[in-house]
Amino acid sequence: MAAHSSFAARTYRVDAVVLRTHKLGEADRIITLLTSDHGQIRAVAKGVRRTSSKFGGRLEPFMVSDLQLVAGRTLDIISQAVTKSSYGQSIAAHYDRYTVATAMAETAEKLTDADSESAGAQYRLLVGALAALSRGDHAAELILDSYLLRSLATAGWAPSFDACARCGATGPHTAFSAALGGAVCHDCRPPGSPSPSVETMRLLAALLSGDWAVADVSEPANRREAAGLVASFVQWHLERNVRSLRLVERN
Ligand SMILES: [Zn+2]
Repeated sequence: MAAHSSFAARTYRVDAVVLRTHKLGEADRIITLLTSDHGQIRAVAKGVRRTSSKFGGRLEPFMVSDLQLVAGRTLDIISQAVTKSSYGQSIAAHYDRYTVATAMAETAEKLTDADSESAGAQYRLLVGALAALSRGDHAAELILDSYLLRSLATAGWAPSFDACARCGATGPHTAFSAALGGAVCHDCRPPGSPSPSVETMRLLAALLSGDWAVADVSEPANRREAAGLVASFVQWHLERNVRSLRLVERN
């Protein structure tokens, strides 16, 4: 044990949101966290599945906590958790919010897996979206699509919904290409590109910029069309399906 004593002595504190948990052994869990300033971390919560656990419900998905961790040889160990915001309960009580939060957390996990540079910004974006979701500020699927567009923009893949994403020609344009980065002009549009309505393009721009006055009064048909385009944009850039997006109910 002497060889590990220097590790055991190294503790640190972080603000973190729980992205995901999975079982480890009889009573433990591995917790995947997005932290305010240490990027994405996977850490062990010992005894967390016992009813007598000192952690209570503080390490459930979407909880935001002030954590104390002890650096371990492979995974760090969570030694203390103080709740900062309990979005988890309100989100878990509504199925639509829960599926949206799950899709957001999965996206955040993928976007911060390799890219630690923007992790702090991704943390703030996710916590803000979870707060809005838990309060029911806006329709859950609009919060999701706004979050997806903004998290991709934060990761360096900002879509354009006005100027042509390829040549820069002034918009509005009536074609969309996930591969080229959003709205495309008549000359640049690849064959078979979808042609969303002007209202849908306006909604997408509002979701990207956080213009809720426009987004909140959008029509269901435009929300549906926007959601399909956002999903294709996300999947193109993450280069694999975000599984939980398929669970989100669109009405
Ligand atoms: Zn163009």
